[in-house]
Amino acid sequence: MSELEGKRVFVTGSGAGIGKAIATLFTQRGARVVISDIDADAAKKAAEEIGAAGVANCDVTDEGQVQAAIQQAVALLGGLDVLVNNAGIEVSSPLLQQSTESFDKIYAVNVRGPFVAMKAAIGHLIESKGNIVNISSIAGIGGSPLLGSYCATKAALIQMTRVAAVEMRPTGVRVNAVCPGFADTAMVERLVPDFEAATQVPFGDLVAMKQGRLGTPEEIAEVAAFLASDRASWVTGSHYVLDGGLTASLV
Ligand code: NAP
Repeated sequence: MSELEGKRVFVTGSGAGIGKAIATLFTQRGARVVISDIDADAAKKAAEEIGAAGVANCDVTDEGQVQAAIQQAVALLGGLDVLVNNAGIEVSSPLLQQSTESFDKIYAVNVRGPFVAMKAAIGHLIESKGNIVNISSIAGIGGSPLLGSYCATKAALIQMTRVAAVEMRPTGVRVNAVCPGFADTAMVERLVPDFEAATQVPFGDLVAMKQGRLGTPEEIAEVAAFLASDRASWVTGSHYVLDGGLTASLV
């Protein structure tokens, strides 16, 4: 039997990048996945490409939309076993030069988004003894110039993961996080010019020195698949780092 056979899954921000790779791999492993994105065209296209079970879009900053999308997914799937909080944005700015509006926005997407999605999904997950996979980042573990507010949001997501895991343990619901290094997606492409301007080092050299190469969305999806599966039955409150050794090195 496939690792995720029959699992009913909802993935935010899954029209592109890592979320799409998660939806793809989970479907290949037997899950029934509902795609969700702020970009309805991207979600539709991804769902067709993947052969997903359906689409239920939301902007994760809008609690009403998140609740409605999760309800729609539950109706489509007949319940919910896995919530993947993947939707996230980056801001590249020296921290103390960042506008307060932009700081509020990144918190709304990267912290409040997973918070409201976990709240909307938890009743269904308790029923199925399901689990939550939160896509955090190594930016939640170490600091990086230009990524101050992003680092803060991803650290917050690790902490929400830990607390939710402990509080939910008696219900059988597991909650874990994945912390990737730089991966090959549009998000990282957008960061390259600012990083090169700030460091005066070609981004490819920086990546080669710090983590060997860019990770692939598929490699991140593998870890998410393990955490979502019954193979991870005693794993909760954890954050799994995959970064080609970046956080292991002092130089
Ligand atoms: P991406 O390529 O920018 O894709 C993110 C997807 O989420 C896009 O389809 C985006 O739509 C959608 N989205 C953005 N804001 C949203 C919102 N408010 N509500 C719902 N969907 C929204 O990003 P990615 O690199 O795949 O990143 C996915 C997750 O992995 C994020 O949480 C990110 O922080 C995390 N992560 C990424 C890396 C990396 O190196 N790429 C490393 C560590 C962690 P639009 O394109 O229309 O905005």
